[in-house]
Amino acid sequence: MDAASVLREVFGFSSFRGSQGEIVERTIAGEDSVVLMPTGGGKSLCYQLPSIVRPGVGVVVSPLIALMHDQVEALRLLGVKAAYWNSTSSDEELFRVRQALRAGELDLLYVAPERLLTPSFVSTLEDLEIALFAIDEAHCVSAWGHDFRPEYLRIAEITSRFPGVPRIALTATADAITRREIHQRLGLTEAREFVTSFDRPNIRYVVEEKNDVRAQLLRFLAQGDDGDSFKGSTGIVYCQSRKRTEEFAELLRDNGYDAVAYHAGMHGDERTAMQQRFRREDGVVVCATIAFGMGIDKPDVRFVAHVDLPKSLEGYYQETGRAGRDGEPSVAWMAYGLADVVAQASFISGGGASAEQQRVEQMKLDAMLGYAEAATCRRRVLLAYFGEESGDCGNCDTCLSPPELYDATVDTQKALSAVIRTGQRFGAGHIIDVLRGKRTAKIESWNHADLPTFGVGAELSDQEWRSVIRQLVARGLLSPDPSRMGALTVTERARPVLEGHETVSLRRLAASPARVKRSRSAAPGGAPADLTDDDRALFELLRTERRAVADADGVPPYVVFPDRTLWELVAAKPQTREALLAVNGIGPVKADKYGERFLALLAND
Ligand code: ADP
Ligand code: ZN
Repeated sequence: MDAASVLREVFGFSSFRGSQGEIVERTIAGEDSVVLMPTGGGKSLCYQLPSIVRPGVGVVVSPLIALMHDQVEALRLLGVKAAYWNSTSSDEELFRVRQALRAGELDLLYVAPERLLTPSFVSTLEDLEIALFAIDEAHCVSAWGHDFRPEYLRIAEITSRFPGVPRIALTATADAITRREIHQRLGLTEAREFVTSFDRPNIRYVVEEKNDVRAQLLRFLAQGDDGDSFKGSTGIVYCQSRKRTEEFAELLRDNGYDAVAYHAGMHGDERTAMQQRFRREDGVVVCATIAFGMGIDKPDVRFVAHVDLPKSLEGYYQETGRAGRDGEPSVAWMAYGLADVVAQASFISGGGASAEQQRVEQMKLDAMLGYAEAATCRRRVLLAYFGEESGDCGNCDTCLSPPELYDATVDTQKALSAVIRTGQRFGAGHIIDVLRGKRTAKIESWNHADLPTFGVGAELSDQEWRSVIRQLVARGLLSPDPSRMGALTVTERARPVLEGHETVSLRRLAASPARVKRSRSAAPGGAPADLTDDDRALFELLRTERRAVADADGVPPYVVFPDRTLWELVAAKPQTREALLAVNGIGPVKADKYGERFLALLAND
């Protein structure tokens, strides 16, 4: 079968996405490629399809053992002969896999890197026809990265024994250093590189100023995607500490969400069970530390919320990137406040890292703050950080409700002067009391009511001053000193403003938290606009059926059909097998397996 028919008849897709077609064609022709594509971009097809078209078995190296089972099951449901070989395989399973391999019955074999390196595995391979080698999560070769796997350094040794077998390395992490390492260390210096934009257009970015984060999170979830609550949707809430994951999970449960906590302090079994629930069930919200990370590839995560400020934009991009892998509208929401900046700054200075390391971490934090306080399109700020240029996106909070900017030079001078006059030893709370002229006990005991700056900022509210100070910290005019409980100090960069040589324009605090209106209408999970109640009811019916067949087959629901396919079924209401095959994501094998059950639910009466 040629590539186009496999795409249609096995995967049930009408066309290739982006550079998939070119990558597939090259790989079938026997050429090497390095593929950099964001999460959800469709990397798997790039090696799965050529493995089916080319004679022999495609060998896929992946470090994500926990996912192999689901990947292999998903392929089997498409009628593709696939198996995996890792440390969880029993002797009997291995025996069967080896037999299938020898009989030339497999299209795809997933293997953990440490297995690939064993002499017995290599000698098994040497007797076989190999379609290709795919090296997934290729950034694991990078000794600088978080996911370094020493075994990855030896992959080239093995693949070089099979000249003429095309190799394809894939990753969603792609800064310049990692890219170079992938080419060099995997022996792919001649390989063509395919870079897809790292933009995730279906993710909407929203940042709120933190005041009561619990209430804010609940409001965000209730408001959901264009007024359609996130209740019943899958989501992740990232928290800075273990304790907070438990607290937020409890808060959400008390408010009717199916929420669980996840952090590294939990028992291994408990963590596996949580991950499993998240993957297998619809609508679980995980409140997690960043330990909930690589390998979370559930495609229908509808929101990722950050209730604390992440350390870096790389981290933020990775974490928010777990939303919307299926390409459907999703939201990345974050609330952040001054206390977050102080907490992060104290992590940096208190962690015992070298001065150089601290400098790098501070730069990363500054970039993160620049994003959080952005007055322009957030996506532009995010992509610029990864070296990509773009226009205004129309799908972030600053694009959808642009902030009002005002000349804040005088406010800035007042704030800087209050910090200087009080000796650069107080946090934002006290500085604001001075500015607003509040006679607190602390003001009295320090005689701060006698200062010329006392009460000069009475026209702004506490909240408005907080916003001003936060923005000044983000721009590096003020700096919180973590070793003195966040005492604010005035930096060198503030001098021109104090001397009146430079003006400052700041965002005005929104009167009420930004209610972001969508530019394009879409309900959760790829639902079409103008849904009727009947459509919704039908969707729920299909979803329940999907869950039932998924449980019976021991796979996650999205492996049976993604949400988008369910919505297409709702819209098209196919009545025959032929009509069913016209729906994206339904090929002949799935039509045979599930067709009747779903057609019965769709039958017009
Ligand atoms: P990645 O590995 O890059 O994160 P996946 O390979 O898991 O992404 O693909 C993400 C989603 O996109 C999956 O649900 C997959 O079925 C879907 N997909 C991939 N290629 C196509 C295509 N050509 N047409 C429609 N859907 C596609
Ligand atoms: Zn934007």
